[in-house]
Amino acid sequence: MSSYAPGDRTPSEPTVETRTLPPTEAGLAEAGRLLRAGRLVAFPTETVYGLGADAADADAVARTFTAKGRPADNPLIVHVGGLGDLDGVVHEVTPLAVRLADRFWPGPLTLVLAAHPNLPRVTTAGLDSVAVRVPDHPVARRLLASAGVPVAAPSANRSGRPSPTSAAHVLADLAGRIDAVVDGGPCTVGVESTVVDARGEVPLILREGSVTREDLGVALDAAGVGSLDLDASPGTRHRHYQPACRVELAPAGTGPDIARRLAAEGARVGLIARGQAPGNVVEVARFDTAEQLAAILYGALRDAELAAVDVVVVEEVADVGIGRALMDRLRRAAA
Ligand code: AMP
Ligand code: MG
Repeated sequence: MSSYAPGDRTPSEPTVETRTLPPTEAGLAEAGRLLRAGRLVAFPTETVYGLGADAADADAVARTFTAKGRPADNPLIVHVGGLGDLDGVVHEVTPLAVRLADRFWPGPLTLVLAAHPNLPRVTTAGLDSVAVRVPDHPVARRLLASAGVPVAAPSANRSGRPSPTSAAHVLADLAGRIDAVVDGGPCTVGVESTVVDARGEVPLILREGSVTREDLGVALDAAGVGSLDLDASPGTRHRHYQPACRVELAPAGTGPDIARRLAAEGARVGLIARGQAPGNVVEVARFDTAEQLAAILYGALRDAELAAVDVVVVEEVADVGIGRALMDRLRRAAA
């Protein structure tokens, strides 16, 4: 594994001018040209913004690690336009993968399959498996068609920070470090894709995401869903989703009280909860359902940071459905 060494490094100083491209015919043609030329282009998906590079271009992919400061042992997801576009990316599409793709693609489900021998190992962080997905966002789909190459894309944030759900979030983290961002407006889902190992007979969930365990169970009838194996997902080992302020979790309904108490102790406190913020607390965001919290969470964590609070209190959601993925992200943000 010595042919690449992006390393666990601090990103270098900003060096390039980052262009903002509109999601027009001309903007996407330019974004596609940049990707084919080995440049880095951030783009919206239905989950979060990704930082794209030609998946077959080892140098371009290595630069995404440098731009993000991403640990070299954290593999990327390769984005393609459809199941038929995996030549040179995967070695074999299993029957399970075909079934899952039929049901969930385009959509927020990432499948781990055996990697094609020609795929650069920097893309897979040295593994002999590769993660692939077909995003369900009109701008992402048109960009992939324009680029005409599989696009490796981690989330377009500095490593360890909340994932970006708008072009402004991307620029806040990566301006000067990437060539362009395609501005497709805010992401609708807001929590990352579910990662499933599809090499065997049953899906093994490696990262909870917006396709829920319940969704996967339904799609597979009585076949059953594999147990969660987070140790097999390298990215889940690392610090993740953390804003500059402290994150404190509060059981449902208790957010305003906990925030009031922390504020009374002298801290500058923000609140992301179902109820109204008390007078001495900054109301960062309100939500009703877990789906709503998913859509706003990362942006709200960044807003809390911009409001210069010492601590942001976030109300928990039930550990079912998309709530499982959300609670996973919240625990990591609060870690
Ligand atoms: P991100 O792009 O930041 O959303 O992270 C991609 C996620 O996919 C990380 O949690 C990785 O660990 C996971 N992933 C990517 N490729 C593989 C793979 N070959 N095997 C297991 N997990 C993977
Ligand atoms: Mg990420």
